[in-house]
Amino acid sequence: MTEKQAQTFDPIEMSSQQFELASCYIGELRTGLIDFLKHPKRISIVNFPVEMDDGSVQSFQGYRVIHNTVFGPGKGGIRFHPDLTMDEVISLAKLMTWKCALVNIPFGGAKGGVICDTKLLSESELRRITRRFTSELAANIGPNIDIPAPDMYTNEQTMAWIFDTYDVLHPGKNNRPVVTGKPIEMGGSFGRHEATGNGVYHLTERFLSKGLLADQQTVAGARVAIQGFGNVGAVSATTFHKNGALIIAVSDSQGGIYRQSGFDPAELLAFKAEHGTVVGMPDSLTLTNDDLLQVDCDILIPAASSHQIHQNNAHNINARVIVEAANSPLTPEADKILSERGIYVLPDIIANAGGVTVSYFEWVQNQINQQWDLDEVNTRLQKTMHRVLDLVFSRWQGFVVGEKTATNDTDSKNIDLNKPVFRSIALSIAIERVAKATLIRGIWP
Ligand code: NAD
Repeated sequence: MTEKQAQTFDPIEMSSQQFELASCYIGELRTGLIDFLKHPKRISIVNFPVEMDDGSVQSFQGYRVIHNTVFGPGKGGIRFHPDLTMDEVISLAKLMTWKCALVNIPFGGAKGGVICDTKLLSESELRRITRRFTSELAANIGPNIDIPAPDMYTNEQTMAWIFDTYDVLHPGKNNRPVVTGKPIEMGGSFGRHEATGNGVYHLTERFLSKGLLADQQTVAGARVAIQGFGNVGAVSATTFHKNGALIIAVSDSQGGIYRQSGFDPAELLAFKAEHGTVVGMPDSLTLTNDDLLQVDCDILIPAASSHQIHQNNAHNINARVIVEAANSPLTPEADKILSERGIYVLPDIIANAGGVTVSYFEWVQNQINQQWDLDEVNTRLQKTMHRVLDLVFSRWQGFVVGEKTATNDTDSKNIDLNKPVFRSIALSIAIERVAKATLIRGIWP
């Protein structure tokens, strides 16, 4: 399935199905509250003109969605992608709400992006798009309102442009906390660039230590396949490799490669920097992206785009654990098929939460004008990832051993509620926390 076809999935419907299933593991939720938690608080749509390098003018559309602010200002990435849709941004903003609640940071969920193909744009065109988009968002972003971060096809440079534009428009204040994922020289945090990939590693190592895979209780020796070799995929590859895993397959938007004896990620990075893709790496077999997902491996890490594993290919997955570094790489149908096949899935809301965790550390450092050293950031990150895995795992275990029972019935999907997937349990904890905080704050007026 190509990336374009993958977008035909309905992201709102999928997040509703996940929400419904998760609510089976929650004591009680008031109906009106459920509706409130399902829908975004605010949606901004902006259209703006940009002058291109050849003197022509092109119109762009961008979105920023805040899903929930019960715990604090909005937080979430900005994505530049030709297939971006508002529905996808809404569902990603929701994910951010649950992710922030799970790792216990005082942010709500948000997400945004611009429909554009960065591969067809020059650096100066990208800078003009970013600046104009930032100015169009106007008062909708701010250090205590909504704080963007990098996501697909945006990076530290994009964040520096957003900060600079915002700072010019709001002089005389400490505006550094308006975005995270900035370059170190501009108030970025040590360890932020690597945070999501490192977090994927810390979560996986903790999961393996629980012993569900009797013969694979550490990452050492595990055969790992990674879809996507951008920021998150490449850092994950590097960290897993450093800790003894074999990176047997990786891919990017142009295709995949396989080597049974494993790749050195440093060599892959050098090859990609020279050739623009990992495809063609010496001593490797070339794969399609669908082949990559079906490689026989211990750990499969989707680290590219949404809806890559679905009802048509979930039966062919040959991994023992899937760790969702990307946001929403699996559809609910895939969740069900994989669960029936005994393949564990560590869901995005915990697996890639390292990014927002260190974004929060960056925001705190900016607020107090400090820069923590790398060890401090990494130690805090590791603790957070281990804590969130422990939290979700022990609640999951409670349902599996029958100490807890599902409270609601779902008629629709023929799902055995006594065999919950980690996603439902993680979501149930997050939804419960946000619901409880909403009631404690008191519904206004
Ligand atoms: P990126 O733009 O740096 O990298 C994306 C990579 O995916 C590129 O290598 C691209 O070639 C590849 N790719 C795109 N389509 C593909 C396809 N169909 N098959 C295989 N490869 C494909 O983006 P990123 O920041 O690494 O983000 C990757 C995923 O991780 C996204 O889903 C994003 O939402 C999620 N995520 C990122 C962060 C972060 O801190 N950057 C945090 C949380 C979640």
